[in-house]
Amino acid sequence: MNVISPTPVDAMPGAVDCTPFARGLFIGGAWRPTAGTIAVVDPSTERVIADVADAGIEDAMAAVDAAHRAAPAWRAKSPRERSEILRRCFELMIERSHLLATLISLENGKALADAKGEVAYAAEFFRWNAEEAVRITGDLGTAPSGSNRILVDYAPMGIAVLVTPWNFPAAMATRKIAPALAAGCTVVLKPASETPLTAYALAELYREAGVPDGVVNVVTTSQPGPVVSAMLDDPRVRKLSFTGSTGIGRVLLAEAARTVVSCAMELGGNAPFVVFDDADLEAALDGAMIAKMRNAGEACTAANRFYVQSGIYERFASGLVARMAALRIGPGTDAATQCGPMITRKAVEKIHRLVMDATSRGADLLQGGTAPAGTGYFYPPTVLGNVSPDALLMHEEIFGPVAALARFETEDEVIEAANDTEYGLASYIFTGDMKRALRVAGRMEAGMIAINRGLVSDPAAPFGGVKQSGLGREGGHHGVLDYLEPKYIAASF
Ligand code: NAP
Repeated sequence: MNVISPTPVDAMPGAVDCTPFARGLFIGGAWRPTAGTIAVVDPSTERVIADVADAGIEDAMAAVDAAHRAAPAWRAKSPRERSEILRRCFELMIERSHLLATLISLENGKALADAKGEVAYAAEFFRWNAEEAVRITGDLGTAPSGSNRILVDYAPMGIAVLVTPWNFPAAMATRKIAPALAAGCTVVLKPASETPLTAYALAELYREAGVPDGVVNVVTTSQPGPVVSAMLDDPRVRKLSFTGSTGIGRVLLAEAARTVVSCAMELGGNAPFVVFDDADLEAALDGAMIAKMRNAGEACTAANRFYVQSGIYERFASGLVARMAALRIGPGTDAATQCGPMITRKAVEKIHRLVMDATSRGADLLQGGTAPAGTGYFYPPTVLGNVSPDALLMHEEIFGPVAALARFETEDEVIEAANDTEYGLASYIFTGDMKRALRVAGRMEAGMIAINRGLVSDPAAPFGGVKQSGLGREGGHHGVLDYLEPKYIAASF
């Protein structure tokens, strides 16, 4: 295992002072202090790098008030004006990408290369939605009876509450904020407690780009349940967009029912990665490393279960072991790091429990499997072979650098195994036969399918899951529609 020892934060190349991003809640364009604070910990060093504000219900309602006050002027702006502001957000994010990536690495732990990739991806949602903002068109038709015309206009839904996870602190926020603003909505963002600094840094950046005060508000809280619940009970809030675990998604869907708030849900995944005998081995291994190791496995789209056909199984397994063993583990901000720490100690313990469960049910430990001693929440790249279908990690999200391999013989068998889950977010298929790839893709129960590639996310494409992986789509043309209500007018003229 290649382990780089943690470096003190101040000695890291490109380290940033995090305190300017912890000035209070961002409400109505001003910083609002709170009595209590939430400690933000660098998972590489276990050191507290900042203390951010801790909102109570009153603070959250002040954010809803600010979003409400800002709404009329924002929705009245011309699409072109909104578009130009969004475009400026994109440009500033690209200009500041090193700072933003360093901040993401510090609070999340991900390798700097992954963090830079995230900033580029996150910024792209502003560029894409700057283009969408000026292409929101309605419909005009004639009723079948000929008695009247049917006009359909699209109106902004109203205030949107956005709740995001820690694994992509920038991208999960911009994937919601950019289309909401393009549609003419104002928002309250509640970022994850582990990674609030990126959200606050971006709030400042939006303001600099010309986003008016109150259009984007950011509140961090140690009581997400009561705080989000109170916002959902306010009748001015008309949209909830949540990205996080399926468990919390279920809770929020029930809460949103009280005021019949429109919900978008981007939830958990359990992606199958299927390799057929006729696949290009090197391409499959390259794809596997991206699908498994982007963000050290802490991605909802991460390949969770590798199904490999018998004829290529041994070669794929040894190739994957060699690549996983060669990865350098270390602090995210160290440029040499390829696999950063997990988000918390609890996450490391959960991953290890899943690995131990798999080996207790007969899996072969081919690589890794022992967390390094010392500071930081590290877990080594791990490969398990011949994993039994009843192992817990074939059913639960691993959310870590662990590849679980199982053999299969036939196409029908692998499709049945791949679909044997409550999740349906992403799937990966590797084969040299495009007819087969499309046939299998058609039978996969997933919202997104990658053929002969390990990356599926694209701001220009609809991202989202089926089954218990979610409701609705973000990105593509679908993203902005999620923040618009069709308004039908029957007119005689
Ligand atoms: P999580 O525990 O569900 O938390 C997500 C967000 O919800 C955080 O901001 C959290 O706040 C907040 N939250 C927690 N309890 C809440 C409650 N009772 N009411 C309202 N909000 C509440 O998920 P996570 O551990 O941060 O993220 C990992 C999960 O997200 C994985 O399942 C992953 O697959 C999923 N994910 C899905 C996508 C997708 O696009 N489908 C993308 C990324 C991640 P605190 O931080 O304060 O707890």
